Amino acid sequence: MGDDNEIIVKPALPQELKFYEESVLHAELAAWMPTYYGTLTLTRNQPGQPGDNQSAPTIKALNGYALSDMMAASTLDQEDGANAAAAAMAETDLFAAEDNGADDDECICLENVSLGFKKPCVLDLKMGTQLFDDDASEEKKARLGAVAASTTSLPLGFRMTGFEVYDSEKCDFTKYSKHYGKGLTEDTVLDGFRNYFAAKLGPERMRVIIERFVNDLTDFLATIETQELRMRSSSLLMIYEGDAEAFDAGVALEQEKIAAVVARAQAHMEKGAREDQEGEDEDEDDEEGDDEDDEDFEDYEDDEEDGEVGQKVTDMRLIDFAHSTWTPGQGPDEGVVKGVKSALALFEKLLQEDYPMD
Ligand code: ADP
Ligand code: MN
Repeated sequence: MGDDNEIIVKPALPQELKFYEESVLHAELAAWMPTYYGTLTLTRNQPGQPGDNQSAPTIKALNGYALSDMMAASTLDQEDGANAAAAAMAETDLFAAEDNGADDDECICLENVSLGFKKPCVLDLKMGTQLFDDDASEEKKARLGAVAASTTSLPLGFRMTGFEVYDSEKCDFTKYSKHYGKGLTEDTVLDGFRNYFAAKLGPERMRVIIERFVNDLTDFLATIETQELRMRSSSLLMIYEGDAEAFDAGVALEQEKIAAVVARAQAHMEKGAREDQEGEDEDEDDEEGDDEDDEDFEDYEDDEEDGEVGQKVTDMRLIDFAHSTWTPGQGPDEGVVKGVKSALALFEKLLQEDYPMD
């Protein structure tokens, strides 16, 4: 997977597109989703060249993977994102001429959550006890119902799908397929997580990673308990840094950022106090003081928008909404709530048994 691309481009399925479009009305959940930059439409059949396959591009990248040489744009609004993506695609060889469909291809452009990791160890956790839409065919309901019952989906509310773990000795990723995850049971799923948390980072770092996911899952649980939607086959995407040096750099960067925020807040308060004092003596100084404040904020925003995604330690997001819908008035998705609680319990067990404090 292209780790250094800013955008993931995924063929748009109507239900997923609708879910992302409507997510602006659900900010609390949207905060857990990849940033949605908008859609991108690829014209397969260019005017005047009917049937000319050379000029009939479709996305070759599977299910939203990776565009190479993605732009280094820092300010992405919907239009910019799509234009930049189109420009980047035109320069890459991701177009294949093998599809002769008549329609244009609409794609959704999403933040690449793996960006910011040197060796991203990625786990796809398929959430919920019910994996099909209510309007699925009887055949599909029966089939996916049987899959849920024969895996951890029904008893635990989640299933490990695929994951990959960086092995610093082999300098390569160890990959576990979705079949591996399907084969896990309530009794063996903890071993599945042990295999995911197996990057050779040492117990201290691994403890930090699992604690962060416990915090994320706890916050996420509080969110989804307030959200009225049905997630069918959506996933929690968990990522941690598998390179020890990069991991430490990520932690250091976070500490620097916190220190900078604290220093700024302090400076701001001290300046405020000074101005209050001066203001008491001489009211006209107020205006000058305000100007200085504005400059401070501009500096701060420049830092935030310099286009660089700093080194990350962990990240957790909700993805894959091809079968998910907002369902106002129907309460939370109990199957997903169950899954988050089960995962939390297992992660806490891992912390107790495998990564002791001392
Ligand atoms: P599908 O399951 O329909 O193929 P997903 O949306 O689940 O499509 O994407 C498949 C995989 O692609 C995910 O398991 C994840 O590894 C990766 N992926 C999807 N969206 C993102 C994203 N926004 N950032 C990083 N990786 C992603
Ligand atoms: Mn998926």
